[in-house]
This record gives sequence, C-alpha cells and structure tokens, in this order.
Amino acid sequence: MKKNILLIHTGGTISMQLNTETGGVILSAANPLAMEIDNIQQFANITEVEAFNLPSPHITPEHMLTLKMMIEQQTATNHFDGVVITHGTDTLEETAYFLELSTNYAIPIVLTGAMRSSNEIGADGVYNLMAAVRVAAADNANDKGVLVVLNDEIHTATNVTKTHSSSVSTFQSPQYGPIGIVTKSAIHFHHAPLARICLPVDAIRKKVAMFKIYAGMESDMLHSIATLGYDGVVLEGLGQGNVPPALLTGIEYLLKANIPVIVVSRCFNGIAQDIYAYEGGGKMLKDMGVRFEHGLSGQKARLKLLLELCSG
Ligand code: ASP
Repeated sequence: MKKNILLIHTGGTISMQLNTETGGVILSAANPLAMEIDNIQQFANITEVEAFNLPSPHITPEHMLTLKMMIEQQTATNHFDGVVITHGTDTLEETAYFLELSTNYAIPIVLTGAMRSSNEIGADGVYNLMAAVRVAAADNANDKGVLVVLNDEIHTATNVTKTHSSSVSTFQSPQYGPIGIVTKSAIHFHHAPLARICLPVDAIRKKVAMFKIYAGMESDMLHSIATLGYDGVVLEGLGQGNVPPALLTGIEYLLKANIPVIVVSRCFNGIAQDIYAYEGGGKMLKDMGVRFEHGLSGQKARLKLLLELCSG
C-alpha cells in the first residue's frame, strides 16, 4: 500500500530557475517542483505544503522552529508515514540538525535539495526529491532520526555537512560516511544512529555566537560577546581543541559572567578533547570550565547550545 508523505517546501536552488539572459539563479514565483508532483506520486501519496520560498542563507532558527511546529500540527491532525522537506543546501544541515534535536518521531523526516536549479542541464532536484520520498516511504527508515538524502546517499542530520560549493556529491559525513544508499530497486541502510537526544523548544529567546579560532587571535572579540547580549559562545578550536594563550582572559571573562563556552575542533575530521596541558591547551580550558562538544561541527554545536539554553 502507498504511504502518506507530507512534503514541505522551503525554497533553495531546488525551487529556483536559471535566468539564461543574466546567468543568475533566481527564486521562481511558482515552485517548479509542483509540475513534477504527478511523477513523484507513483512512490507515495503526497500532501504538499509551501512553508517558505527562501534561499537558505535567509533561513533562521525561527524559521526552523516554524517548520518543527508545522510538522507537529500536520502530524497531529493527519496520518503521515514520513516527512520530506526541500531546502537550500547552504544551511540544510543546520535545519536538519535543529529538527533532529527538537523532535523525536519514529517516522522519518528527510531533507533534500539540489545543486543545480530546475532548468539547468543535469538538474538534480527532481531526482533528489524522488529519492527523498522513497526513503521517507521506506519501512526500514523508521527510528533513524532526521535524515539528509542527496546524490543517492542517506546521511544523518548529526554528521552530514556540505563539503563542496558546487558538486552534486557535496553532502558528506566526514569520518562516519552515509548510513545508507538509494538504489533503483531499494533503500539500503547499513548503519543506524545510536541514542538520540531531544531538547524541547517552543521559542528562540537566546543568542549564541561562534568563532573560528586562528593563529594570533586575541581576546577582544570574546569580551564583546557579553556586552552584545550573547548567552553562549562556541569556539572552533585548533586541532584537538586548543586556543592561543591570548584568548584565555576572554574565556575567563565569559565564564565568570556565566556565559557557557563550548569548544569543538576546526578540523574537518576527528573530535575535540582535553589533551594538551600547555597554556591555552584543551586540558587547561577544561579545567577552567569550558565544555568540550565531541564530534560536532561548530555550526551544529552552536544550534545545540542554543536549544539547550532555550529549553532551559
Ligand atoms: N544558495 C542556495 C541555497 O542554499 C544553494 C542551494 O540551494 O543549493 O538556497
């Protein structure tokens, strides 16, 4: 029997068109995916909702919260076996992770997007949408958390990141890999995520800043965080989670002001840990009260801290 899938559009390249005169990619008033829905209906009964029509750099945590609430409302009043969200790829991983942290459904929530707009040669949008619907409708996709499906790969929201500015194989899960693949005949999972955490949130009331740490960085910007009214800060530290010694006064200042400081690694692979005991080393940071967030990118650690603060 065909499954019922809720399809929510938010914009992004998957809903855009190339203007052949100017060469610019633009939002189109009528979502070009709408014309493809008849084709996609062969895989599931689709109910479409247009949440936004935004390029994903315009998406904020408030939009993410709206999406979460929309899913809650729709699934409370209708029977859906899965949810698919189309989204611009630039911040897709952040919306996916926000939903991963703030929801706890057994049914799959699958995000997808495209690297080529709808009227470009080799456009990947409709194909990715079809693959995402097939995953959302697959029996074996339940209880895997929020998923990201592009280029025939299935990634977890927690690990996936955009790794290439233009390639269709941009979405990767560094050091973990995809948890499954989409083939012509089936949806194959070869891993399952471990325990999930759920941070219930009903409003975005806090502000969290993030800095990529660099050689020679000083404390002045960290001092400004408290003055600007931020409630927390994430540092993408060097290597295993170290910082230049000149940052220590700034970190100490924030911790004394009860502003949590989280450290992740700015490295693409590996995790931050309190190993080095030299001035500015991770061990010293840990002893000062800095929290290490193992295995999350800076942008995801920032969302996690934001939701922790918002959910109390
Ligand atoms: N800049 C676009 C966006 O994120 C890129 C894309 O959708 O692939 O909206």
